[in-house]
Amino acid sequence: MFSTSSSDRSLFSRRSFLRWSQSAIALFGAAPVMGAAEAVAAPASEALAVDYYDKLGVDKIINAAGTYTTLTAACMPPQVRRAVEVAAHHPVHLHDLQVKSGEYLAKKLRCEGALVTSGAAGAITLATAACMASANGNTPGDIPQNAGSMKNEIIVQKAHRYGYDHAMLLCGAVIREVVTLDEYKAAFNEKTIMTNFFNAAEEEEGPPAQIGREQWLEIAHQHNVPCHLDAAADMPPIENLWKYTQMGFDLVCFSGGKGIRGPQNAGLLLGKKHLTDLALANTNPNGDAVGRGMKVAKEQIVGMVAAIDWLLEQSDEANTAEYNRYCKTISDAVKNIPTVQISVVTPKIANHVPHLLLKYDPEKVGVTVSQVQERLRAQKPPIELNPNTGHKPNQGIPSDANTLVVGVWMLQPGEPEVVGRRIRAALTQKA
Ligand SMILES: *Cc1c(COP(=O)(O)O)cnc(C)c1O
Repeated sequence: MFSTSSSDRSLFSRRSFLRWSQSAIALFGAAPVMGAAEAVAAPASEALAVDYYDKLGVDKIINAAGTYTTLTAACMPPQVRRAVEVAAHHPVHLHDLQVKSGEYLAKKLRCEGALVTSGAAGAITLATAACMASANGNTPGDIPQNAGSMKNEIIVQKAHRYGYDHAMLLCGAVIREVVTLDEYKAAFNEKTIMTNFFNAAEEEEGPPAQIGREQWLEIAHQHNVPCHLDAAADMPPIENLWKYTQMGFDLVCFSGGKGIRGPQNAGLLLGKKHLTDLALANTNPNGDAVGRGMKVAKEQIVGMVAAIDWLLEQSDEANTAEYNRYCKTISDAVKNIPTVQISVVTPKIANHVPHLLLKYDPEKVGVTVSQVQERLRAQKPPIELNPNTGHKPNQGIPSDANTLVVGVWMLQPGEPEVVGRRIRAALTQKA
């Protein structure tokens, strides 16, 4: 795949796109329209399955936003769904599955140790528990209630403080905040257990962090303190799955259900084997551990492994070309509407994929950005635009009050056309 010419690549991408849509059709029980020869038969149990979204009255949405947790992030590709389905048929020894999936992933992702966690946030908690155990030699049962009398400090740059700090604090850890390089150097003491680096922080609003990745790492290692990197939403590019561990980060977490398109309640903790082993000791099924409630079932462990196998067959170039085609389909549908300015923007680190920006003059067009959002939500299926719509610049997306942001990468085949038509209708419909 990586060695093919660009024309082969687009052909390959079209084929895999067709295969994807055909198996989606097969799963929904409709007649395949694109030639039966390549269609993948759905397992009988899926073909007969009850649609519980319909039964429960839960709307199925078109995700023109991105891998947002509240929108249930990504959908698993057919090959991953089938692996989950097969895994569901048999019990196994959980510990055996945890250990062997970790060994398999470590080899594929070129690091010493790996653990399938309950998501990136679960991975951050287990990274903290592992670093605490490594520094103190404590048992899992000491976390969190004895953490106050143990080594328990984590050094973090002020600009890297975020909502996921909670995942560390859960272990009874204390965060020591630093701004300057001198403060960072002075912050290390006998209680320091780890540092946390928020990889996408430089795309956030507010004052920039003063210490970059490499310097951060080097100084921590001078003090023999392990560094955790939160790269939850930072794939693509695919190579990021090994880039940061190879750079020397002792632990790196990724969300399994975002760009990787595995189960939403799975994630990866990658890094040094002695630390991923300690992370495993601090999680389910160990009942006396902070991670007992962060269970990853056999289906999700297998789904995570299958998602990595699937991902390693993809190419960033082919995927980007596909997302750009989606952007073009949608922008073609609205380009003749007065005042509309079209641009495509790719954030540098997190969600590093093309996003379509449609800026227009609400006075001339006669509809505000929030009215467009309401109109898109009011029909079936409801369409969710990227939450940076109508927002000031954020997370590498230069939006503003008059800009619609379309996150195209979670759209399913056929949906870009629907989104284009519906945005056009929402912009031209009289109030
Ligand atoms: C999404 C995200 C998380 C949490 O990931 P989950 O897999 O949902 O637990 C943590 N950190 C960052 C930076 C994220 O974007």
